[in-house]
Amino acid sequence: MELYKHQNIKIYNSLSKSKETFKSLEEGNIGMYVCGPTVYSNVHLGNVRTFMSFDLIYRYFLHLGYKVRYVRNITDAGHLENDADEGEDRISKKARLEQLEPMEVVQQYTVDFHNIMNKMNNLPPSIEPTATGHIIEQIEIIKTILEKGLAYIVDGSVYFDVLKYNETAQYGILSGRNIEDAIHNTRTLDGQSEKKNPQDFALWKKAKPEHIMRWPSPWSDGFPGWHLECTAMSTKYLGSKFDIHGGGMDLKFPHHECEIAQAKSCNQTDPVNYWMHANMLIMNGQKMAKSTGNFILPNDIFTGENTILSKAFAPSVVRFFMLQAHYRSVLDFSSEALEASEKGFFKLMEAVNNLTNIKAGRTSSINIKAWEDACYSAMNDDFNSPILIAQLFEAVRYINLLKLESATLTQEDLDRFTTLINAFVFDVLGLENNVKKDTSSQLGAVVEVLIKLRNEARANKNWALSDQIRDELLEKGIQLKDGKEGTTFSIN
Ligand code: AMP
Ligand code: ZN
Repeated sequence: MELYKHQNIKIYNSLSKSKETFKSLEEGNIGMYVCGPTVYSNVHLGNVRTFMSFDLIYRYFLHLGYKVRYVRNITDAGHLENDADEGEDRISKKARLEQLEPMEVVQQYTVDFHNIMNKMNNLPPSIEPTATGHIIEQIEIIKTILEKGLAYIVDGSVYFDVLKYNETAQYGILSGRNIEDAIHNTRTLDGQSEKKNPQDFALWKKAKPEHIMRWPSPWSDGFPGWHLECTAMSTKYLGSKFDIHGGGMDLKFPHHECEIAQAKSCNQTDPVNYWMHANMLIMNGQKMAKSTGNFILPNDIFTGENTILSKAFAPSVVRFFMLQAHYRSVLDFSSEALEASEKGFFKLMEAVNNLTNIKAGRTSSINIKAWEDACYSAMNDDFNSPILIAQLFEAVRYINLLKLESATLTQEDLDRFTTLINAFVFDVLGLENNVKKDTSSQLGAVVEVLIKLRNEARANKNWALSDQIRDELLEKGIQLKDGKEGTTFSIN
């Protein structure tokens, strides 16, 4: 069904810094590229938030009937320790420290990444290319940029000439940085660097003798610069101009700025129509990040094995928590916030379960069409999941009224309502109705009530009742033990 023909989607474009009406280059088709993880460590929940934000967007497009080619890469080479093209390759460093082959590191963390994406119910992308699988394409791009005179070679390394590029184009167009100011404000190079200008960035780096990950090229045995892989893979699979490019806010500069410069130098066109950036997950008032140690791993949330949270939380509850914030808002992670989300999640799922027992009436006292329009408007307004969730809680209210027979729906409206709720909850938000409520604390409280009643019976010498309570609980697997300190219980 081509639902998209009836919807008017607005997307906040980081390039124009405004909400724009979305129109795909080819009717009914969307090309979307999202920067994937650097697989040198386990993904933390902050990384997961960004990938989940784009999963929501992907899911909504699919729901509307678009054919989407969603490309999300795996960075398995070229990402150095800092953004100024300095330091060791992150994967090589891990391999050296752990005495592993770099590809063992890559394999281990790619498997972990897929595992977490599955648990979080993120759909796999259509293509998941790797940087090391596209070295030839990256070398070809460097050759083209060199031919255009927009890069220079120094001792086997190739650097992009930002000043030269800026003569005819605008470096800083995405991040809003002014290159002239940047040049005035940065210290001159200390002579250690091969770059003509600190703003220049590496397209190819000659490998030092100890650098393990290296490939032959016309310039040296070396490796590609980090920004290059995304230009190579997005161009290869989506063309020189495509619809959407996404990533976390922190990738805007320099990564995405450099991608624009590279692609524009090669293809004479702006590569992307809509640049989308997801905002950060924060914890303890700071961005969640591996480097500062301020992070939590998804599996440690699911098992409860951590020192940050009061208890374990299921993946779908974590997903619901993140969807309650708009993807462009900062989201603060805390135990209290997760607990509140869990309550809301169970309330929603209980209502979804109740929906199947509702009987149709002869008339409708709820305007389902108006509710449907409000749900679509929320998602059409730059994928506003918190507003959609507010509408779903409005639906929970309707379901409770229908259950009490204080409201009615015709069979046709009831069917439509059921289809839409399922579509929004499961297909678009990607929630799963498979989380069991942890009722152990309530069970304990119930047993305590029975112990109190049994004690009263014993005080009244009502031995028949006190024995009955003890024996019937035992039949259910709950054993009471009378001791000096009072009665305790164990559950088998
Ligand atoms: P990396 O593996 O470091 O390249 O990061 C993978 C993705 O996670 C990128 O899109 C980052 O922007 C994103 N990311 C990193 N930290 C956070 C965070 N605290 N909140 C949301 N996204 C993040
Ligand atoms: Zn990228």
